[in-house]
Amino acid sequence: MKLFGTSGIRGIYGEEITEELASKVGSALGEYVKEGLVVLGRDPRNSSPSLEKAAASGLAAKGIKIKSVGMVPTPAVAFAARELKAKAGVMITASHNPAEYNGIKLWNSDSSAFEPEKEREIEKLVQKQSGNLESVPFDTINIIPKYTEALKNSVQIEKKFKIVLDCGHGAACPVSPELLADYGEVTELFCEADGDFPGRKPEPSGENLGELKKKVLEVGADIGIAHDGDADRIGVVDETGTFVERDALLALFAKNALQDKKGVVAVPIDTSKMVEDVIEQNGGSVLMTRVGDVDVVAKLKEHKGVFGGEPSGCFIFPDVHLCPDGILGSLKILELLSKSGKKLSELVAELPKYYTIRETILCGKEELQEKVNSLSEKLKSLGGEVNEIDGLRVDFEDSWILVRASGTEPMVRITVEAKSKEKAEELLKTIQNF
Ligand code: MG
Repeated sequence: MKLFGTSGIRGIYGEEITEELASKVGSALGEYVKEGLVVLGRDPRNSSPSLEKAAASGLAAKGIKIKSVGMVPTPAVAFAARELKAKAGVMITASHNPAEYNGIKLWNSDSSAFEPEKEREIEKLVQKQSGNLESVPFDTINIIPKYTEALKNSVQIEKKFKIVLDCGHGAACPVSPELLADYGEVTELFCEADGDFPGRKPEPSGENLGELKKKVLEVGADIGIAHDGDADRIGVVDETGTFVERDALLALFAKNALQDKKGVVAVPIDTSKMVEDVIEQNGGSVLMTRVGDVDVVAKLKEHKGVFGGEPSGCFIFPDVHLCPDGILGSLKILELLSKSGKKLSELVAELPKYYTIRETILCGKEELQEKVNSLSEKLKSLGGEVNEIDGLRVDFEDSWILVRASGTEPMVRITVEAKSKEKAEELLKTIQNF
């Protein structure tokens, strides 16, 4: 069985994700790191405390020292792993998945997520474990003051704002309300931790943030900020109650980072050209990566980049750490508002405009690669600049086409982008007629 997906181990609690599995993963990790300290943390899901205890039992069986940082955002666990000089960090969370899910995500001592190769090593070791569920005592420490201090030190926010904060009853609850109160007047929405996520779905996407949009207009706020279940992601609503698309957020964060320091910005190959344009306008250089935040982080490390992220809502600010951090994202966006003196809708309106279409072609698993190959060959014949880092992207003057095999389903993913709707539709038709 393949244990690790694109973001750690995830599944339905009591079915795929059990205490026995958590303990085995703990033991496998213990065997992998051999000695020293491992930091544990968890999101507010009802199943998280017992899974955390089981992971601790598994680690203890291998003689590993354990410290828990309790119920905190995922980025706080990654931060703690580095801060406490631990060998690794373990976060019990299913991120933005519904309440019945849970999962386990592993962190390196430098605050980056375990790479796929390391996950495969752990997977092999898990098969050999017997699973120890004998309860072990461990200390819980408060990492929040150090974590928030590091976040605050990384921004300069001179102005005060009217903010609506929607924690979605998730892991941001013990951190964000107090932190944001330092930067203005905060109206709280779903800010009591609750593992059933009764307020809204944990994913902070435009369609799930209806209450936040309403509240922003009702109180006349400058900004609405929302997080997913474990607060590594952020969703933002401007002062007109409009959801800010993630490509626009990526562009704004890149612009902000490049104002402080010129350098490399890493984004995946399916990112809007709007982001590239903004990076170039602000004196930075674009580094295209494979799709997924793991490769974005790898490239950031390799090139000592100033910022990285992807349109899924993961934003990585390496001046603080290498874990996607939605809470840090909230401060960075306030910093941009403070420095520019503009409204958020104005900052978004200044961004270059592109029209993007994302389509899929379903096909059998067997034909998938063949289909991608044949589309790719024909695409290449159109001329343009070719990039084959993940699938095939061909860039023309003001437009581009990307064709890649989905990593999770038997389908070809097609993205086309152009300056106008007509041009984008014309490009899509060209591929569909191949
Ligand atoms: Mg998440």
